[in-house]
Amino acid sequence: MVQILSGKEVSRKVYSDLIPRIDSLKKQGISPCLAVILIGENPASKIYVRSKTRKFESLGLHSKTIHLEKSIDETELIGNIQSLNNTKDIHGILIQLPLPKQMDELKILQLVSPDKDVDGFHPENVGLLSIGHPRFISCTPKGIMRIFDHYNIDLDGKHVVLLGRSNIVGRPMSLLTGTKKKGANATITVCHSGTKYIPDFTSSADVVISAMGVPEFLKGKMLKKGSVVIDVGINRVEADNEKGYRLVGDADWNSIQENVSAATPVPGGVGPMTIAMLVENTVEAAERNMVNS
Ligand code: NAP
Repeated sequence: MVQILSGKEVSRKVYSDLIPRIDSLKKQGISPCLAVILIGENPASKIYVRSKTRKFESLGLHSKTIHLEKSIDETELIGNIQSLNNTKDIHGILIQLPLPKQMDELKILQLVSPDKDVDGFHPENVGLLSIGHPRFISCTPKGIMRIFDHYNIDLDGKHVVLLGRSNIVGRPMSLLTGTKKKGANATITVCHSGTKYIPDFTSSADVVISAMGVPEFLKGKMLKKGSVVIDVGINRVEADNEKGYRLVGDADWNSIQENVSAATPVPGGVGPMTIAMLVENTVEAAERNMVNS
């Protein structure tokens, strides 16, 4: 029987652990607040922002969405970010990606105060993670580490194969899984579009973490018996239903069953953990802010 690694279940535990921390902040007159900057009309981005802000509301936390026109000029955007950096009651700032093509993503992300960078994308926070002293860890990789911890999957000495090396998933994931710490300490292989033949690596992996964005790429025959699959991919494929599409991961769920011992489903796997870690990072930012002020 394949074990389902349910991000939904783990996220419920995260939220219940956060309640006393939120209550303690509120007793001191602080209500953790996230500001989200959404630029343009990308439908998927709008859905992601809505689900993040709804989660904050459901927990009695504040969130504020600043929706800007795609054509906004850079000076105005910089002004918006600086104003949020200087607003005491805003504890976390998230810039919803992807940005419109004309914008320089690195330049914009660097404008967010590293102390409010709850997405963990600021180079200062990436640097701290890479030297083993993380402040804010980006939400998806942090959430995946929490799944391993919850289900007692110890990576020590294991071969972890990452499919994808993006700054938001693959790269920080390689730092977290490969670090010399309890629960991690794995040997890492990172595959990407320049990798000649991916099954050469996945077939010897104890754990495969796929973040490519290629629907149902990973098949059972590419995996070792008893391996674990973490499927980060969220891909829309055409379907004969009301919406006209369904969501699938990077793994072919039916096909991987023949070899995996445990796997995250799509939806209900990594996705809920990304939001849970965003809430956790925002609470952490509010706590840090209180200590430092
Ligand atoms: P990304 O920035 O597009 O990066 C994709 C990575 O996969 C790149 O490193 C790319 O290689 C590699 N890749 C793409 N196609 C490949 C192929 N055919 N063979 C080998 N490598 C390939 O994507 P991302 O932002 O990391 O997101 C990846 C997926 O995860 C997407 O489906 C996204 O929607 C999903 N996602 C989900 C969550 C969640 O909460 N569940 C969070 C973030 C992202 P190169 O570097 O060589 O280009």
